[in-house]
Amino acid sequence: MKKSMTLIVPCYNEEESLPLFYRAVCDVIATIEDCDVTLLLVNDGSRDGTLSVMRDLASRDSRVRYLSFSRNFGKEAAMYAGFCNAKGDYVAVMDADMQDPPSLLPQMLDILESGEYDSVATRRVTREGEPPIRSLFARLFYRIINRISDADIVDGARDFRLMRREMVDAIVAMCEYNRFSKGIFGWIGFRTYWLPYKNVERVAGETKWSFFKLFKYSIEGIVNFSQAPLSIASLMGLILTVASFAAILFVVVRRLLFGDPVAGWASTICVILLMGGLQLLCLGIVGQYLAKTYLEVKRRPHYIIAETNDESAQRVH
Ligand code: UDP
Ligand code: MG
Repeated sequence: MKKSMTLIVPCYNEEESLPLFYRAVCDVIATIEDCDVTLLLVNDGSRDGTLSVMRDLASRDSRVRYLSFSRNFGKEAAMYAGFCNAKGDYVAVMDADMQDPPSLLPQMLDILESGEYDSVATRRVTREGEPPIRSLFARLFYRIINRISDADIVDGARDFRLMRREMVDAIVAMCEYNRFSKGIFGWIGFRTYWLPYKNVERVAGETKWSFFKLFKYSIEGIVNFSQAPLSIASLMGLILTVASFAAILFVVVRRLLFGDPVAGWASTICVILLMGGLQLLCLGIVGQYLAKTYLEVKRRPHYIIAETNDESAQRVH
């Protein structure tokens, strides 16, 4: 039987890129014969004409389905909505800005069809066209998170990957509210083939990621996939407690033996400040985890669909 493939495309303010993307994808899927390809466009609360572009594409091409959110929920939510509503045997996630070259699809499909792998993921081997400071912090982030997390997160990995149904079901089953896809993909396992390619700059529009947003996202990644900060805080507390017991002992013994007069006001203040700072830091770390837990237990929906041309779509999930 002929297999089917769903391409999930999260879009936020992509009215310029989307038509270009659509054309490029159509050219590529025309060359794929042994697989029916459908497009699942997810409008993540765009403020420009993205939704009307989607309606237009859907009315002209029956292979196009779209889900339109009631507001901007973020790319993670858009991808989750895509995974929940994708019906294909194979599912891929692709950015609308052509930074994930559609021309790689046939090759990715071949690798999956050979049966040795469950997913084909892409990895940028260059970071050309990216501010150097951003690349530096990105490298640092990957080094840290791989040290302290049991999810295997590859440097330069993109969200662009093609996977089998089994893997998609596993992703949908990971229904956590705070989603970090790079971690989720790594955590669920499966056999993944890494396909390297050169970085491509976006065709139109501009990136939605400011440096600050990326920084926040990396902290999220760490908090979501590692308990190491909590352990570090506890360990630091333990070491400091032991050290201060030793210091107290030392001071008491010295007082008894030598009758030392009061001295060292400045150093005392420094120690007090240090302790106060460390306590706040650790409290902050605990707070980060507590905040995540708070959002998690509320069980709010990941996304809300306001409009779609797919009757069977799960509108709130
Ligand atoms: N995107 C989204 N919701 C958001 C931000 C981005 O759906 O809140 C989409 C965006 O339309 C694009 C993809 O996620 O298709 C990647 O975004 P972008 O190109 O801005 O990120 P970068 O490639 O710079 O990391
Ligand atoms: Mg991009």
